Formats: sequence, C-alpha cells, structure tokens
Amino acid sequence: MLSENLEMFHPEHKNSFMCPTCLSIIPAANLGHISEAHIVPKSAGGKLKTFLCKKCNSMFGAKQDKWFGEIIRIANDKKKTLFTTAIRDGYFLIDDIKVNGHWERKQGGSFSFVIHTDRNSPGVNRMINEKFGKNPPEIKLSIPFPILRNQRLIEVGYLTAAYLMWFGLLGYSWALQSHLNHIRQQILNPDDEIIDSRYLFSVESVNWEPWIGLVSLYSDTVPAFGLKKHIVVLPPRDRPNYYSSLKKAKTNIKLSDIKTLKLPNKPFYGPPVCILYENQLVVFTEPSKSAIEHVHTILFTPDSRQGKIMRPVDKPTFDELKKLENTRYFDIKVPRA
Ligand SMILES: [Zn+2]
Repeated sequence: MLSENLEMFHPEHKNSFMCPTCLSIIPAANLGHISEAHIVPKSAGGKLKTFLCKKCNSMFGAKQDKWFGEIIRIANDKKKTLFTTAIRDGYFLIDDIKVNGHWERKQGGSFSFVIHTDRNSPGVNRMINEKFGKNPPEIKLSIPFPILRNQRLIEVGYLTAAYLMWFGLLGYSWALQSHLNHIRQQILNPDDEIIDSRYLFSVESVNWEPWIGLVSLYSDTVPAFGLKKHIVVLPPRDRPNYYSSLKKAKTNIKLSDIKTLKLPNKPFYGPPVCILYENQLVVFTEPSKSAIEHVHTILFTPDSRQGKIMRPVDKPTFDELKKLENTRYFDIKVPRA
C-alpha cells in the first residue's frame, strides 16, 4: 500500500519503500531492510505501528525510544514515581562515594541495597565497612536516576512519535513536505539540539491515548499529537518558522486554550493531499511534476468537524467555477519552503 502511495508522488520509484525519516529509497527486492516500528514503544504499551528502514528503527530503539518508552511506562504505572524505573545505573552513592551495586524497592515501600564488593576497589570496600561498622551507622544514600539525565531524548521521543503517527495517517503526503526537514534532522540526530523543545507542551487534567489532529494554539492552526499529559505541535506548511513565534510560549497550557479537531485513525494513502483548516494551509506536499494533477485538498471549514476532500484546479477552471453558484472555493497560495 505504501509503495503504491509513493508511486503517486514519484512514478519513477516503482515497487519501492521510502523511509519516512531518512527518506532513503528501498526497492521491494530488499524487503529485509524495512522493519515494522511501534509509534509509541511496545515496552510502554504502544500498539500503533508503521514502517521504517531498519537502520532508523534500531537507532530510535537505542536512543529516543528507550527513554521515551521508559517515561510513558512510568506514567502508566499506578504509583507514577521514578522508583518504578526499569533502567537503572549499576551504582549508588554512599556519602558521595560511588559504590557498585543495585537497589530494589520492596513491597510495602522499603528498599534493599546490595553492594557488589567484587566490583568495587578494596579502598571503597574498606571505607564502606568503616561506615557500617559504626553503631548506629550514619550515612547518606543517593540513588541516581539515568532517566533524569536524558530529558532531551525523551522530548525527541515525543517528536518522533508525533511525526510517525502523522505518517501513519497521510503516508507520503505527510513525509514529503520539505518544510519538515528540520524535524527529520532532529529525529535522526536526537543527541543534537537542532530545534529546541518548544514543540512539547504539558496539559493538565488529561490522560490521552495517542491521537493526532489539528490544534488552534496562539492563533495558529497546526498539526498536533497528544499522549498522556503532553501535546506536540508541528509546523504548518504556511508557517515553516513556526517555532520561533513560540519563543515566549509557556510550557504548560490549559486545555481551554487549545481547540482540537481530531482526525480519523484510518490511513489515507491516496493521491497527494493537502489540509486546509480555517484558511490556514496545514499540510501540503510537493509531489513531482508528473503527479501534480492528482493533488487533493482535505478541507476543514470552521463550521464543520468533518473533512471534505477538494481537488485543486488550474487557473482557468478556477475562474469558471467561481462563476457558479453554491460553490465553495479557496484560492490557496502555496508558499515556497
Ligand atoms: Zn531510515
């Protein structure tokens, strides 16, 4: 299905898959280089899937998805505390001395700490013995939480899930938008700060299942992704520098400040589509010239929560249609990315 979708954009790539994040082309003969990917990591209960090239999928698994999955797993846990973290360092600190060992939280709330004496230097073991030799021992214990050192990868994890869930809905109509290049670069380089994390907001009093839709926030309508208490906003097509307008935005927003239009979960892998909502061009692809006559617009009007698909026409047809009664028309000016 995705290969037929790709062909509608690039007729020269027959029977091929294009990775939605690195945009590399994989011919169907190399099926082994394509893998199924969870949009929200499986370890965090994610069920939605899409496809990625194997290289991207395994890189995300080792980087952003590892930490994103862990934070969602903690959010899903009844206790919602960091002590339920599954990814732990193999050490803790006793009076600021690094001691190799592991810790566990027992039922009832007590903790057990096991010191691996064979992995500590004799000097460390001696110091610890001295501390516990006192009666009663007076020590300060500190537990490191690696998840707190990986905040950036968690944020990129949210961004990756948002981008991939949109790809799951619109296929290459989504992935082939050049104004999302810096989003793809951030996803592919999760350790680097390519865009800052202005895209991620927390929202009180919600506990969303993953959803995508259009959100009106600070007078712009933008593609969005929601999960648990967070919302990711993505740049609309007519505002490629959208994030710089969010400079002064708070990271917490009230639910009443956002107006959402949820989209169906059924994939639309048809001809290239654009999405227009309240006169704002939210999604628009740049299909190759040979495919341009197939461009469709999904139109959302302010008075309807239902999308309609519209077909762009050339200038003479547009002028003819304008003369007809009961015709709704929009003259979309497509900005250059
Ligand atoms: Zn890839």
